[in-house]
Amino acid sequence: MVGKRKPVSDIDAQSVKNADTAEKKGYDGGSGPGGYIAAIRAAQLGFKTAIVEKEKNLGGICLNWGCIPTKSLLRASEVYRLIKRSKEFGIEVKGASFDIQSIVKYSRNVVDKLSSGVTYLMKKNNIKVHQGFGKLAGNSTIKVAGDKEEQEIVSKHIILATGVRARNLPEIEADGDLIWNAQHAMMPGKLPKSLLIIGSGAIGIEFASFYSTLGVDVTIVEVKESILPLEDQDISNLAQEIFTRQGIKIYTNSSVKALTKSKNSAQVLLSSGESKEFDRVIVAVGVQANIENIGLENTKIKLSPSGFIEMNEWYETSESNVYAIGDVAGPPCLAHKASHEAVICVEKIAGKSAHALKKECIPNCTYSHPQIASIGLTEEQAIKGGYDIKIGKFHSNFNGKSIALSETEGLVKTIIDKKTGELLGSHMIGAEVTELISNFALAKQLEGTDFDIKSTIFPHPTISEMIHESVLAADDESLNS
Ligand SMILES: Cc1cc2nc3c(=O)[nH]c(=O)nc-3n(C[C@H](O)[C@H](O)[C@H](O)COP(=O)(O)OP(=O)(O)OC[C@H]3O[C@@H](n4cnc5c(N)ncnc54)[C@H](O)[C@@H]3O)c2cc1C
Repeated sequence: MVGKRKPVSDIDAQSVKNADTAEKKGYDGGSGPGGYIAAIRAAQLGFKTAIVEKEKNLGGICLNWGCIPTKSLLRASEVYRLIKRSKEFGIEVKGASFDIQSIVKYSRNVVDKLSSGVTYLMKKNNIKVHQGFGKLAGNSTIKVAGDKEEQEIVSKHIILATGVRARNLPEIEADGDLIWNAQHAMMPGKLPKSLLIIGSGAIGIEFASFYSTLGVDVTIVEVKESILPLEDQDISNLAQEIFTRQGIKIYTNSSVKALTKSKNSAQVLLSSGESKEFDRVIVAVGVQANIENIGLENTKIKLSPSGFIEMNEWYETSESNVYAIGDVAGPPCLAHKASHEAVICVEKIAGKSAHALKKECIPNCTYSHPQIASIGLTEEQAIKGGYDIKIGKFHSNFNGKSIALSETEGLVKTIIDKKTGELLGSHMIGAEVTELISNFALAKQLEGTDFDIKSTIFPHPTISEMIHESVLAADDESLNS
């Protein structure tokens, strides 16, 4: 990815073997939050930097087909939900309605705004963008197949950030018609009456929340024992209770045994033996790495058993000078993890004193209604890890701000090492918890203890007071419950 603009390290400037330019350049594969952040940091550190992106819009899946459009859609459904509940607040709104095409348009406008922002950042940082499909031809050469021509870029350092794509199930392949992947699900032509979502990770749950709020009859099938299987059990259980109360039908320990398509619907046989008909089906069962046709066979790069690129803590692959970051380098597949890895990887290349990423400090967020957020160990993991723990829980219905917002379904659960007071994990469900979790991210980063949280002054009235109270509750010192 990076050649060099000014001498900040021992990395040599590299040239592009292309007749139309004699500039010195480098290469970065993929313009998602891994790739574009790596490019910016490299440019800041004085490297001559280029990025290769096969799509017209910059920003990767996150910006174009992931984090951003889904949050925009969820915001629209949140507005609709609040309007429907307006009477609770003494406000009467008669005849509230929505137009799904306008909601989709809103989300695409947000995407366009942010994508042009990335284009601006590339220009601002003098990063050359090559549009085309990049393929490694050894450890210092990339061939870029554009619409009209093939370019060859030579660079001493190459960062792979090609991301992942949705996984299909055998015999249940997204077709964009009856069976949708996430991309189809964020561009519905019209609203289905009934919807089956296979998989209850963050993506499945966010679509369940969006469509259910808009009045679609939503069913979730999850093969594991509980929905949101990576979350702490208390949070998954409460989420399931709340979503069920909202009208979402949830089948856990279940799978789809057969699916038969007809013209306008899909007949689905569940493992329970029940047969049900749905207008549309969303498959949200995980991802697979984009490693095909990118020239890995021309290198010594190894793959993990689950098909991600193998690398060490500095994102070095087994091929010298080739690095891998972001989703293609393995889970958790999260934008903030990709960007953080990008900075660490580039700073290490530049010879700056980089710190390896602490996996236990990566927050996870699901932006459904209610929201879910977590960091660190679950109760089960802490016990399995041999920790002697204490646990504090605080429910939203004792929190003044949550009551004022009329958002009283929620919980903050904190897991603390009894001996040292270390904050091992925090798990939340409720209003705005995707914002709250950063408090714990910061506390963990600073190696804070339960004492530090107890001594922190949280403003009143805020939902953040639940963090304080959950830690107090671990010692039976809760002041408001
Ligand atoms: C529906 C959905 C919702 C999500 N919501 C969230 C969220 O709320 N928060 C969160 O943290 N994460 C979320 N994610 C995950 C997030 O999108 C990813 O973690 C993030 O995009 C990973 O960044 P990346 O740079 O590794 O890869 P990507 O963003 O996937 O970028 C890879 C880029 O590389 C390009 N590319 C691939 N191969 C080549 C090639 N050979 N040549 C040139 N270009 C190539 C691709 O076109 C793409 O632009 C969501 C994902 C989905 C699908």
